[in-house]
Amino acid sequence: LFITIEGPDGAGKTSVIEELYPRLQQLAACEIVKTREPGGIPIAEKIRQVILDPKNDRMDDRTEALLYAAARRQHLVERVWPALEAGKIVLCDRFVDSSLAYQGAGRKIGVEEVAKINEFAIEGTIPDATLYLDIDSDTGLQRIMRTRTNQIDRLDSEGLQFHQRVRHAYLKLVEEHSERIIKIDARKRLESVVEDCFEALISRYPT
Ligand code: C5P
Ligand code: MG
Repeated sequence: LFITIEGPDGAGKTSVIEELYPRLQQLAACEIVKTREPGGIPIAEKIRQVILDPKNDRMDDRTEALLYAAARRQHLVERVWPALEAGKIVLCDRFVDSSLAYQGAGRKIGVEEVAKINEFAIEGTIPDATLYLDIDSDTGLQRIMRTRTNQIDRLDSEGLQFHQRVRHAYLKLVEEHSERIIKIDARKRLESVVEDCFEALISRYPT
């Protein structure tokens, strides 16, 4: 079972996963592998550093999209595919939907274009379920300003409109893939969001 968590900056994905993971693991009969993108394994963490280094501010948008896809593939090969083949559950912070939203819509490369290069990287791997944590861009950015001072420069240069395009693209994906993507209201307090995610997964996959 391949489960991904998606959402704009400040939606609280990382905090939600931290709390959701032990609760799911307690219930599940098999091991749950908790991981994240871009990263999760050394090669992909290195690519992550290259992408997110503020000194690389001249990086071309398509170069960025290719690096995300490259990190994604290596992470699939080394971590996700072996775990799924061993019958484990994989819980992953971000996957292809992030690239469609951030590079496709946010950077304006186009969702179709970004989907194409990712198809090369993922060879048809689609999550069984995706939790999309929805937050309006104002609230999301405010949360980050409060908690992640190291990220503020990047977010400033990207701007509110960038983040609005990202969220809009996510909402469109939810509509187009309603059988896979479950939308969760992430404006609520952390405990409620975790509870909603937990309930959504449990009702979909009883024990
Ligand atoms: O998931 P996390 O919040 O750690 O991602 C780190 C940063 O990478 C975020 O600020 C996000 O905006 C950015 N990102 C991106 N394109 C992706 C995935 C993440 O711009 N495909
Ligand atoms: Mg995060």
